[in-house]
Amino acid sequence: MSYFVVGAGFWGATIAERIATVLKAPVTIIERRNHIGGNCHSSLDEETGIECHRYGSHIFHTSLPNVWEYITQFGAFTSYQHKVFITHKGKVYTMPINLSTINQFYGKNLSPTEAAAFLQAEIARDHIADPKNLEEKAISLIGRPLYEAFIKGYTHKQWERDPRELPAEIITRLPFRTTYNANYFNDVWQGVPKDGYFSLFERMLSNPLISVQLNCDYATIRSQIPSDATVIYTGMPDQLFDYEYGTLEWRSLRFEWETLPVSDFQGTTVMNYADTDVPYTRIHEFKHYHPERTTPFNCPKTVICREHSQTYHNGLEAYYPVNNERNNTLYARYAQRAAATPGLVLGGRLGAYRYWDMDKAIANALQVFEERILPAARG
Ligand code: UDP
Repeated sequence: MSYFVVGAGFWGATIAERIATVLKAPVTIIERRNHIGGNCHSSLDEETGIECHRYGSHIFHTSLPNVWEYITQFGAFTSYQHKVFITHKGKVYTMPINLSTINQFYGKNLSPTEAAAFLQAEIARDHIADPKNLEEKAISLIGRPLYEAFIKGYTHKQWERDPRELPAEIITRLPFRTTYNANYFNDVWQGVPKDGYFSLFERMLSNPLISVQLNCDYATIRSQIPSDATVIYTGMPDQLFDYEYGTLEWRSLRFEWETLPVSDFQGTTVMNYADTDVPYTRIHEFKHYHPERTTPFNCPKTVICREHSQTYHNGLEAYYPVNNERNNTLYARYAQRAAATPGLVLGGRLGAYRYWDMDKAIANALQVFEERILPAARG
């Protein structure tokens, strides 16, 4: 049996690693870009030595013991805890919305119990019994004033859609708290790879049974793949099937990089911008991910990037699925088609058309390996 994995992000790398380690079978990874790691790829800035996440900030966080156990085989993680700030009308607040945000925004000094009661009264004003979209969901959690200040504009910039046309689940990614806990995530384990994402991926793919072909587009070598091979495809499903049923919608991103002659630009890793008069959604300042790396951290220069959201079109990178009803229905047709194609396994954030964090992608890859690839190999 020969295996080809298309795409070297976390999902594809996990599957390839399992095939090589558990099945002891050779596996070829076909990667269109010039690096492994997919959108989690990082590299060192030549001038400053600062590790930059080339496709925007990636913080590893999970509460899944099997995922944590799996990923830490390939390298340790730092104790970095993600805390985000957000600028709204020239003032900086804590994000996710917590007691500090609430008190600052309303100019109050509420205790947790008082804040919960205060927000309940705010929420009740809109009478939303059964929230059906992102806007209604957000208002039912925090009330309209906080929604309009911190969610509405940012969401509009990120998705280029009215939040009423977006699924409610997107907003449940964010915690809302009436405590001073400012952690962006609720997970048990969190950090960034101590030696960088690039080293983590190198170790995941270090088994000599794994070969990686970079700068290699699957479409151009597809006809050379043996017909009895298993192809594990992590790219866009509509592209795989030549857009036969129509085009799936994705969001893409554009990063505007800058090296600045100051040692610290914003004092934190990520600053979000809530208002629509600022064209970008957030600014990343990468040195703050690694205060323990004293030389780049104390460097008199810093590397930042401004993140702009944009509609995906051919030639750009796809980052986010747009999981509305139209796209989910269309995706289901492609998934059905893939399931009916012998020797094809579709997966990963793009292949599954799911807004997964890194840990969910790894968890799913481990599961697909156990439930599909392993039984098929053992006949
Ligand atoms: N969001 C927002 N304001 C913020 C941060 C997030 O309105 O300051 C909303 C927005 O709709 C976004 C969603 O919450 O798409 C999920 O945010 P998250 O930070 O999880 O997005 P990611 O880091 O995956 O881009």
